[in-house]
Amino acid sequence: MSHEPRRAGRHFLQIPGPTPVPERILAAMSRQILDHRGLEFQRLGKRVLSGIKGIFKTQGQVFIFPSSGTGAWESALCNTLSPGDKVLMCETGQFAVLWAVMANRLGLDPEVIPTDWRIGADADLIEKRLREDKSHSIKAVCVVHNETSTGCRTRIDDVRKAMDSAKHPALLMVDTISSLACTDIRHDEWAIDVTISGSQKGMMLPPGLSFAAVSAKALEASKTSKLAKSYFAWDDMTANNASGFFPYTPATGLLYGLAESIDMINDEGLENVFARHERLAEATRRAVIGWGLEIQCRDPKYYSPAVTTVIMPEGHNADAYRKIVLDNFNMSLGTGLNKIAGKAFRIGHLGDTNELTVMGALTGVEMGFDLAGVPHKKGGVAAAMAYLAETAANPLKVAAE
Ligand SMILES: *Cc1c(COP(=O)(O)O)cnc(C)c1O
Repeated sequence: MSHEPRRAGRHFLQIPGPTPVPERILAAMSRQILDHRGLEFQRLGKRVLSGIKGIFKTQGQVFIFPSSGTGAWESALCNTLSPGDKVLMCETGQFAVLWAVMANRLGLDPEVIPTDWRIGADADLIEKRLREDKSHSIKAVCVVHNETSTGCRTRIDDVRKAMDSAKHPALLMVDTISSLACTDIRHDEWAIDVTISGSQKGMMLPPGLSFAAVSAKALEASKTSKLAKSYFAWDDMTANNASGFFPYTPATGLLYGLAESIDMINDEGLENVFARHERLAEATRRAVIGWGLEIQCRDPKYYSPAVTTVIMPEGHNADAYRKIVLDNFNMSLGTGLNKIAGKAFRIGHLGDTNELTVMGALTGVEMGFDLAGVPHKKGGVAAAMAYLAETAANPLKVAAE
């Protein structure tokens, strides 16, 4: 067995998920296994099943699966749709690509609206396509809220308006895997039919849980949907969840963590959590602009509060650069995915993150540029610092005379 020398201090995990798990959650999960058919579990089951609703801003049902986020994608499609159904998707980046691949594999007929991977989904284009679909052959519109590969956030309220003004009855499915507990999601108010998420990003938990908040319309569709489903079937879940239980062994340790995560988010205040993400994202973007580099998201309307994707200067490989940062400063930055592989890297600023974590990360990024010989202007870190100081929550109060 080979031994890496010990590296002092903590590893900076600055990828856009999984994200570092706070001590409070680690401690909450450090418990003996319990009987998942017993009373103590029932209390935990009821607590998380009801608590998670507040995070999605829904009064309705939220399913919790022992799976990664990809499982909740599958549950959304296979519980509501039938073989051959057309689904309208927007290729905002790699996660949208993967969801469309899944739709294809499940026997659906995805129609994809392309983008240049530098904006979110365009609500006007969705509206235009839905208006053309006079026969209502499109059964669902699927959008990724925060496209984690590009750092572009889609305006879900605009997508809802587009669907309403086209008077189209398609279901609306939204992937909020990297936006839940980072930015506002109003499952009920925006009349989303299935809101999909996962544990390891804004929720600050280890990977292993996925969520699907469902509307009455989605539950109704599940009664006639003909795609095959078993493990992810909603009917067994609904029946068992009614009393706080699950149809199979739930991930009990993660559910202890989830209860703690929900408490932590509520203690801070959901709206404060969103404001914190916006502010740290803005500091990060100011750093990138200060370095004279380009942000992958080309329209501020779509800027992500969770992740910033940075385009490398021509002739410099992003993965070689990331390795230099890891080897020298013990920090993991996100890799460029699919068509921006090697051309871009990602700075995650979501989950249990504060001013100094972000400043530590940005300092590592700037020092890495020096070591890797990546051309950049000085002053990115300084610009982020200035912004965080200007917007500090507790500035020195000068007593009025
Ligand atoms: C991480 C992520 C996924 C994939 O989730 P897994 O938990 O890895 O299955 C899907 N969509 C988005 C937007 C993501 O950020």
